[in-house]
Amino acid sequence: MEDISCSDTQDTVKEIFANYMKQKGHRKTPERFAILAEIYEHNEHFDVETLFVFMKNKNYQVSRATIYNTVDLLLGCGLVVKHQFGKNIAQYEKAFECSQHDHLICQSCGRVAEFCDPRVQQIQTTVGELMEFKINYHSLYFYGICKKCQDS
Ligand SMILES: [Zn+2]
Ligand SMILES: [Zn+2]
Repeated sequence: MEDISCSDTQDTVKEIFANYMKQKGHRKTPERFAILAEIYEHNEHFDVETLFVFMKNKNYQVSRATIYNTVDLLLGCGLVVKHQFGKNIAQYEKAFECSQHDHLICQSCGRVAEFCDPRVQQIQTTVGELMEFKINYHSLYFYGICKKCQDS
Protein backbone atom coordinates (compact mmCIF):
# COMPACT_ATOMS: atom_id res chain seq x y z
CA MET A 1 0.00 0.00 0.00
CA GLU A 2 1.09 3.50 -0.74
CA ASP A 3 1.91 5.75 2.16
CA ILE A 4 0.73 9.20 1.35
CA SER A 5 2.00 11.90 3.65
CA CYS A 6 1.59 15.64 3.47
CA SER A 7 4.36 17.86 4.78
CA ASP A 8 2.17 20.77 5.82
CA THR A 9 -0.47 18.57 7.38
CA GLN A 10 0.33 19.43 11.02
CA ASP A 11 -0.11 23.16 10.39
CA THR A 12 -3.24 22.73 8.31
CA VAL A 13 -5.04 20.49 10.78
CA LYS A 14 -4.10 22.79 13.64
CA GLU A 15 -5.72 25.67 11.80
CA ILE A 16 -8.87 23.65 11.02
CA PHE A 17 -9.12 22.63 14.68
CA ALA A 18 -8.54 26.17 15.95
CA ASN A 19 -11.25 27.55 13.66
CA TYR A 20 -13.66 24.82 14.68
CA MET A 21 -13.17 25.45 18.40
CA LYS A 22 -13.54 29.19 17.93
CA GLN A 23 -16.74 28.70 15.96
CA LYS A 24 -18.18 26.31 18.56
CA GLY A 25 -17.01 28.32 21.54
CA HIS A 26 -14.59 25.73 22.95
CA ARG A 27 -11.46 26.74 24.79
CA LYS A 28 -8.29 26.44 22.73
CA THR A 29 -6.12 24.72 25.30
CA PRO A 30 -2.51 23.60 24.67
CA GLU A 31 -3.54 20.06 25.71
CA ARG A 32 -6.03 19.84 22.88
CA PHE A 33 -3.43 20.88 20.31
CA ALA A 34 -0.87 18.50 21.80
CA ILE A 35 -3.34 15.62 21.43
CA LEU A 36 -4.06 16.60 17.82
CA ALA A 37 -0.33 16.77 17.03
CA GLU A 38 0.23 13.37 18.63
CA ILE A 39 -2.58 11.81 16.57
CA TYR A 40 -1.14 13.23 13.35
CA GLU A 41 2.33 11.88 14.12
CA HIS A 42 1.08 8.32 13.84
CA ASN A 43 -0.24 6.37 10.90
CA GLU A 44 -1.82 3.47 12.72
CA HIS A 45 -5.25 3.06 14.19
CA PHE A 46 -5.38 3.76 17.90
CA ASP A 47 -7.72 3.60 20.86
CA VAL A 48 -7.92 6.15 23.64
CA GLU A 49 -5.74 4.05 25.95
CA THR A 50 -2.95 3.85 23.34
CA LEU A 51 -3.06 7.60 22.87
CA PHE A 52 -2.95 8.09 26.62
CA VAL A 53 0.23 5.95 26.80
CA PHE A 54 1.85 7.82 23.88
CA MET A 55 1.30 11.13 25.67
CA LYS A 56 2.47 9.74 28.98
CA ASN A 57 5.70 8.43 27.41
CA LYS A 58 6.41 11.96 26.27
CA ASN A 59 5.85 13.14 29.84
CA TYR A 60 2.81 15.04 28.71
CA GLN A 61 0.23 15.15 31.48
CA VAL A 62 -3.26 14.74 30.09
CA SER A 63 -6.14 12.86 31.61
CA ARG A 64 -8.12 10.18 29.79
CA ALA A 65 -11.15 12.46 30.13
CA THR A 66 -9.33 15.22 28.23
CA ILE A 67 -8.37 12.76 25.52
CA TYR A 68 -11.95 11.51 25.16
CA ASN A 69 -13.24 15.04 25.08
CA THR A 70 -10.65 16.17 22.51
CA VAL A 71 -11.19 13.13 20.28
CA ASP A 72 -14.91 13.97 20.32
CA LEU A 73 -14.15 17.49 19.14
CA LEU A 74 -11.86 16.10 16.43
CA LEU A 75 -14.62 13.76 15.29
CA GLY A 76 -16.93 16.76 15.15
CA CYS A 77 -14.71 18.66 12.75
CA GLY A 78 -13.82 15.60 10.67
CA LEU A 79 -10.10 15.47 11.57
CA VAL A 80 -10.49 12.04 13.13
CA VAL A 81 -12.70 9.10 12.17
CA LYS A 82 -14.00 6.45 14.49
CA HIS A 83 -13.98 2.77 13.53
CA GLN A 84 -15.69 -0.19 15.06
CA PHE A 85 -13.65 -3.11 13.77
CA GLY A 86 -15.50 -6.27 14.74
CA LYS A 87 -16.08 -6.64 18.46
CA ASN A 88 -13.04 -4.65 19.55
CA ILE A 89 -13.23 -1.34 21.37
CA ALA A 90 -13.55 1.73 19.19
CA GLN A 91 -10.47 2.63 17.20
CA TYR A 92 -9.70 6.01 15.77
CA GLU A 93 -7.42 7.43 13.14
CA LYS A 94 -6.55 10.72 11.57
CA ALA A 95 -8.78 11.62 8.70
CA PHE A 96 -7.33 14.61 6.94
CA GLU A 97 -7.88 14.19 3.20
CA CYS A 98 -4.32 13.07 2.34
CA SER A 99 -4.79 9.67 3.98
CA GLN A 100 -7.95 8.47 2.25
CA HIS A 101 -8.31 4.69 2.51
CA ASP A 102 -10.69 1.87 3.35
CA HIS A 103 -10.44 -1.29 5.43
CA LEU A 104 -10.47 -5.08 5.27
CA ILE A 105 -11.21 -6.87 8.54
CA CYS A 106 -10.28 -10.49 9.19
CA GLN A 107 -13.14 -12.24 10.98
CA SER A 108 -10.78 -14.88 12.28
CA CYS A 109 -7.83 -12.98 13.82
CA GLY A 110 -9.26 -9.46 13.82
CA ARG A 111 -6.41 -8.05 11.76
CA VAL A 112 -7.25 -4.83 9.96
CA ALA A 113 -5.67 -4.13 6.58
CA GLU A 114 -5.93 -0.91 4.65
CA PHE A 115 -6.21 -0.28 0.95
CA CYS A 116 -6.44 2.80 -1.16
CA ASP A 117 -8.34 2.57 -4.42
CA PRO A 118 -9.16 5.85 -6.17
CA ARG A 119 -12.23 4.23 -7.68
CA VAL A 120 -13.95 4.37 -4.28
CA GLN A 121 -13.49 8.13 -4.23
CA GLN A 122 -14.72 8.31 -7.82
CA ILE A 123 -17.92 6.46 -6.87
CA GLN A 124 -18.47 8.90 -4.01
CA THR A 125 -18.04 11.89 -6.33
CA THR A 126 -20.20 10.45 -9.12
CA VAL A 127 -23.02 9.36 -6.79
CA GLY A 128 -22.92 12.72 -5.04
CA GLU A 129 -23.30 14.55 -8.34
CA LEU A 130 -26.01 12.24 -9.67
CA MET A 131 -28.07 12.35 -6.49
CA GLU A 132 -27.31 16.03 -5.81
CA PHE A 133 -26.04 15.01 -2.42
CA LYS A 134 -23.26 16.82 -0.58
CA ILE A 135 -21.32 13.80 0.69
CA ASN A 136 -19.03 14.45 3.66
CA TYR A 137 -17.54 11.01 4.11
CA HIS A 138 -18.11 7.33 3.53
CA SER A 139 -17.65 4.24 5.59
CA LEU A 140 -16.67 1.03 3.77
CA TYR A 141 -15.52 -2.22 5.37
CA PHE A 142 -14.77 -5.57 3.77
CA TYR A 143 -15.09 -8.56 6.11
CA GLY A 144 -13.48 -11.93 5.41
CA ILE A 145 -10.52 -14.16 6.14
CA CYS A 146 -6.95 -12.90 5.71
CA LYS A 147 -4.21 -14.78 3.85
CA LYS A 148 -2.50 -15.89 7.05
CA CYS A 149 -5.70 -17.40 8.47
CA GLN A 150 -6.57 -19.07 5.18
CA ASP A 151 -3.18 -20.81 5.20
CA SER A 152 -3.25 -22.01 8.78
ZN1 LIG B 1 -6.70 -13.36 9.97
ZN1 LIG C 1 -7.25 3.03 8.51
